[in-house]
Amino acid sequence: MLEIISTRLPGNPKTRRRPQVPNATAPDQIFQRALANNEILLPKCDDCGAFHFFPRVLCPHCHGAAISWERASGTGRVHTTTVVRQKPERGGDYNVCVIELDEGVRMMSRVEGIAPADVVIDMPVTAFVGEAEGAPAVLFKPVEG
Ligand SMILES: [Zn+2]
Repeated sequence: MLEIISTRLPGNPKTRRRPQVPNATAPDQIFQRALANNEILLPKCDDCGAFHFFPRVLCPHCHGAAISWERASGTGRVHTTTVVRQKPERGGDYNVCVIELDEGVRMMSRVEGIAPADVVIDMPVTAFVGEAEGAPAVLFKPVEG
């Protein structure tokens, strides 16, 4: 049996208010808001159980839309690393790397607290909330010991 579903919204179209854009729940905003509270959250799919990054509306593994947020372990390893050369008066050389977190997701970031060229692949690192370009960002430092 065919069901007819009206696509018209109730109410007078002239006085009806537009639906609010759910900005506050957009995946990237949830991530950024947590960072501003010094917390690193990772999106995790309720359907397949896999983490992903960067934050998305749909799980990139199974296309599920049920996404939860979990606090990141904060531990991982350097997956790739490179040194960006810069004149000292512009801030000097800095490290750009991809970190693979224990959750299996990769983040582009940098390792601080160590000379940029001393960052090596597979080095264990731990995450902290620092600042990049004036905004809170996930940065890493070498694991002590
Ligand atoms: Zn999934």
